[in-house]
Amino acid sequence: MSTHAYTAEVALVGGGPSGLAAALALAAGGVETLLLAPEPPHTDRRTTALLDGSIQILRALGIWPRLEAQAAPLKFLRLIDATQRLLRAPEVLFDSAELGLDAFGYNVENETLRDALLKTCRQNPRIRTVESPASAVEPDENGVNLLVGDRRERVRLVVASDGRKSICRAAAGIRSRSRALPQTAIVLNLKHSEPHNDTSTEFHTESGPFTFAPLLGNRSSLVCVVRPEEAETIRAMDDTALALEVERRAHSILGKMEAASPRGIFPLGTELAERFAANRIALIGEAAHVLPPIGAQGLNLGIRDAAQIAELVADSRGGDPGADGLLREYDRSRSADVRGRAMFVDFANRSLMSDFLPLHAARGLGLQLANHSGFFRRMLMRQGLGPSGDGPRFARGEML
Ligand SMILES: Cc1cc2nc3c(=O)[nH]c(=O)nc-3n(C[C@H](O)[C@H](O)[C@H](O)COP(=O)(O)OP(=O)(O)OC[C@H]3O[C@@H](n4cnc5c(N)ncnc54)[C@H](O)[C@@H]3O)c2cc1C
Repeated sequence: MSTHAYTAEVALVGGGPSGLAAALALAAGGVETLLLAPEPPHTDRRTTALLDGSIQILRALGIWPRLEAQAAPLKFLRLIDATQRLLRAPEVLFDSAELGLDAFGYNVENETLRDALLKTCRQNPRIRTVESPASAVEPDENGVNLLVGDRRERVRLVVASDGRKSICRAAAGIRSRSRALPQTAIVLNLKHSEPHNDTSTEFHTESGPFTFAPLLGNRSSLVCVVRPEEAETIRAMDDTALALEVERRAHSILGKMEAASPRGIFPLGTELAERFAANRIALIGEAAHVLPPIGAQGLNLGIRDAAQIAELVADSRGGDPGADGLLREYDRSRSADVRGRAMFVDFANRSLMSDFLPLHAARGLGLQLANHSGFFRRMLMRQGLGPSGDGPRFARGEML
């Protein structure tokens, strides 16, 4: 592709929730943005537990009023050791009121979240939304050329939100470490006869977490992580058999169950980019990090990535948004949050699957301590919610 005039300052490649949030955050900072958001190939059946920091960001971006009525609060978080192991952890209940919060966050269906974000992007005069993918991404010294259909675009910075198989990450020359996990997540929504009392319940099993997160009414979303061969057996069940199986595994804590949505199946893996930016390309969301679904960290990290890159670009207005210094600062500012959490989630996941006794002892001891020490419990809850103080300004509810 030959070099031509800039057609926007920044391009977002990928219209998943991270990319859409980044487009809105950049526009809020006064940046003219090109958003490449092709229709995803499948309906996303998942729900997302958006934690308090993400809610603050969505509030600052004006999205939250569009979502609030469809989001269920997560006031309590209960962890139950459902393993058959010798050393089992005690049950722990975390209460958001202990941190002075109404809720740890809110659970929302991914399609609802995407709809609200996309509609807001389309209405924003600073965002030019194109529903086609980038088929080529070529950075050079002064900009990045993109091929979109038969049209060429040129920008100073690409924000890569094109997910796991990111062509932008490859174009930036950034390597990533990936690992397939011997786990598959089955997701579906269920109606149940007993109330969830705004509680998310995470059973820890030998194959991974089995987590209910509240939806509005007597409904919950389920993420059931099992070995791939078990996933095949579950996939073959009809809705009635599946609802019975879920009720059995949940020890009937939510009463009788009924499937309330088609199921989604996700083979799990981890992936972490070696750097989060290079060559005029900054990685956000799953282009930068893929984590197993424990502790609702994945998209919450993606939304903080989005807020952070937007903040840096807005603060450099008048300068070059793709400059090396800005990209180095982005990489530095996201490293501790992303790498620390990726490590923690990996440890939590491995400790469930491993047969190594000292690992179970360490987990049990940690949760025992959480039960008995208010100080330790509050520290764990704050850590789970996200970084305090030095995160992006949007996460503190501030505008750019
Ligand atoms: C079972 C499960 C449960 C989860 N639960 C939670 C939770 O409760 N809380 C939480 O925080 N996280 C959760 N996560 C993680 C979360 O779902 C992901 O982090 C999130 O969906 C990633 O969003 P994204 O926008 O980065 O990527 P994606 O949603 O993958 O979006 C990437 C987009 O880029 C587009 N694209 C790809 N290539 C191109 C191209 N060349 N040009 C243009 N566009 C392109 C794709 O079409 C897609 O729309 C969960 C994950 C799983 C597997």
